[in-house]
Amino acid sequence: MKNYYIYNNEKFTKKPLKEIAEYAFNKKENIWSARISSGLFGLTNCKAGNRGPKKYNEIILGIGNEGLNKIIDLGFITCPVCKPEKTANFWEIIKYKVNEKYNINTLENFTDKNILNFDARRIKWEEILPIINNVPNRIYIPKNLSKKEIKDFKNRFLKTGFKIPAIGYYSPNVSERFTKYDIHFD
Ligand SMILES: [Zn+2]
Repeated sequence: MKNYYIYNNEKFTKKPLKEIAEYAFNKKENIWSARISSGLFGLTNCKAGNRGPKKYNEIILGIGNEGLNKIIDLGFITCPVCKPEKTANFWEIIKYKVNEKYNINTLENFTDKNILNFDARRIKWEEILPIINNVPNRIYIPKNLSKKEIKDFKNRFLKTGFKIPAIGYYSPNVSERFTKYDIHFD
């Protein structure tokens, strides 16, 4: 049985997906799925979310408005494939949190990847890692970062006490769709 970390009633707990789905169904709430390797979140049936190598513990879930706000607070942005922003009242639910966090005032700007780009450095690793007690296989950060930027992120990771996963960027033309930053440090 696959257990998932889910945020509900102000805390994360680990629960079987079936139980989470039944609970959300009974409460008529949405379940939001956040992928820590990419820093994207969306719907649980997202095709992009199901593609590629991932472990079930690379996903954290949130239920309803509270879960959605928590996922925003942790630094996740909308998945461009399943577009969670198309769900009812999406902007109304998150607009205060988005404004407080990014000083962004419209849904259009919040979902614009030229404004908030694909960059998993944005997510609160320091809060997430001790909860899930694991690291993803890989982390997607932007291409063409400087050595210093990559090193800063690695150092941030080291401070959490967790093992550093493969850090790299999205590469649509290679089979793995991922290119690891190959930089050596002293
Ligand atoms: Zn998606």
